[in-house]
Amino acid sequence: MGSEEIRNVIIIGSGPAGYTAAVYTARASLKPLVFEGVQSGGALMTTTEVENFPGFPGGIDGPDLMDNMRKQAEAFGAELLTDDVTEVDLSGPIKTVKVGQREYKARAVILATGSAWRPLNIPGEQELLGHGVSACATCDGFFFKNKKIAVIGGGDSAMEEATFLTRFGDTVTIVHRRDEFRASQIMVDRAKANDKIDFRVNSVPTEILGDGGKVVGVRLKDTVTGEESTLDAEGVFIAIGHTPRSALFEGKVEVDTEGYVKVDAPSSRTNVPGVFACGDLVDHTYRQAITAAGTGCVAALDAEKYVAALT
Ligand code: FAD
Repeated sequence: MGSEEIRNVIIIGSGPAGYTAAVYTARASLKPLVFEGVQSGGALMTTTEVENFPGFPGGIDGPDLMDNMRKQAEAFGAELLTDDVTEVDLSGPIKTVKVGQREYKARAVILATGSAWRPLNIPGEQELLGHGVSACATCDGFFFKNKKIAVIGGGDSAMEEATFLTRFGDTVTIVHRRDEFRASQIMVDRAKANDKIDFRVNSVPTEILGDGGKVVGVRLKDTVTGEESTLDAEGVFIAIGHTPRSALFEGKVEVDTEGYVKVDAPSSRTNVPGVFACGDLVDHTYRQAITAAGTGCVAALDAEKYVAALT
């Protein structure tokens, strides 16, 4: 089942990285086949206004931005399938991508499945996402000028996000379940030295509280005494880590200890010839729509060069 045709490029993923790779490879006449995934459009489908993607001075809603990218890829001839890839064989010169029993073959494959932020899985979190709950300080900090902010987490990214958020917030409270931090000492010291930051240690959030569809606070439980309390906050930033969506590729391309696909930066080449990776799937650090689009472009150009060299 599927298709016997050997394609030039298959792209797995339809966030900014996948669609950008699709636009570039389609314009290069490679006729890419894009597996968008059942949740097509990627992470920005879950947000409202995106204010930092260049070219939209008035901002643009995440789903509109992704719909524009999709249309642009389609207009240049990309073939789009809204399926989740279930298996891949990336070895050898012809790669196989499977959706259930259906098989598709290509000379080059671009991996762009993104990463997922780790949720707290507490009441209020999903309901208030985009209405005070955020997983990205760079994206949303600006919306919390002179507000009370809580940052949940104890690693480097929690310290970094908290320090960054002091540019906007009135106060920033770091909530951490232990009284020791996984973050490096220098990051903790920097946060502690910041007048706007305070700490609630030995505390776990049990509920994000909303009123009128907006965040008003976080219910906390003391892990030592069991005592419950409420922390007032208009913004809650969840910073307990990200999980790259690389399970499908494990054992097929090299991944690092955290599961991010390893690339020969600044190229998008993985350790397997003809397999390229881009976007948040390879990115520990930046995780922005524009950086994902940027590396999607890199992957397309690398794949184009690879395919051209085969003929
Ligand atoms: P993603 O956007 O995560 O896309 C991955 C795609 O892969 C998805 O379409 C998924 O369905 C697909 N996929 C996964 N597995 C499979 C499979 N097996 N088969 C087929 N497809 C698969 N960034 C900004 O620059 N500005 C912002 O304002 C901003 N706001 C944000 C708000 C929220 C709530 C979140 C969560 C993120 C925000 N970001 C923002 C970050 C930005 O969305 C990400 O950095 C960017 O989307 C990463 O792009 P990507 O293409 O690498 O991955």
